[in-house]
Amino acid sequence: MGLAEIMSRLHAAERAAGRDEGSVTLIAVSKVQPAERVLAVLEQGHKVFGENYVQEAAAKWPAWRDRFDAVKLHMIGPLQTNKAKLAVELFDAIHTLDRPSLAQKLAGLQQARGALPQLFVQVNTGEEPQKAGVLPSELTAFLRDCRAMELSPIGLMCIPPEDQDSTPHFAMLAKMAADHGLGALSMGMSGDFEAAIAHGATHVRVGSAIFGARAYPV
Ligand SMILES: *Cc1c(COP(=O)(O)O)cnc(C)c1O
Repeated sequence: MGLAEIMSRLHAAERAAGRDEGSVTLIAVSKVQPAERVLAVLEQGHKVFGENYVQEAAAKWPAWRDRFDAVKLHMIGPLQTNKAKLAVELFDAIHTLDRPSLAQKLAGLQQARGALPQLFVQVNTGEEPQKAGVLPSELTAFLRDCRAMELSPIGLMCIPPEDQDSTPHFAMLAKMAADHGLGALSMGMSGDFEAAIAHGATHVRVGSAIFGARAYPV
């Protein structure tokens, strides 16, 4: 596949859903990809990338940002509280606000710095015990607590269970976002981004379909 094909499929999905071209942001997920594959996509002019690990991103992206203008980096992996400070310096958006201790840490960083990356709250729509994310039943209280700390998440994010049809999870996330007045929806990966767009995704996170299979699974 590659960037051009994914972009044309994304635009077709926008049209099919009756949505404006450009209404969906393609986050090219570059975690653990060889540098030459990421450079090829940067050279094609793509600007928005996703990473899962703070340290990996900190090692790779400062040099690429010196070479390529206006790159935006999205943190899409679990964020440890002790990496939050580095993460807010490195990333333009964090998709994985998923617990009170991280909210508290981010609120403190916001006070100290005056600003934060855009925030998405990760929701564990499948209620999987091993997966990060706020449970659907806890979302209202979590958002209330975030707002009390002066955090203003712009949207919700989910990673549906691997062994299930994603579409009910996308529909659930869209409904929860609408109920809470949140405009941004981070959902959809290589295998299901078109379905996510049909359900209102504003940000899709696509890795292997752009770059090829990762060298090792993560
Ligand atoms: C790795 C990852 C992706 C990209 O997965 P692909 O199947 O390669 O598109 C998207 N979202 C999250 C949270 C990821 O960890």
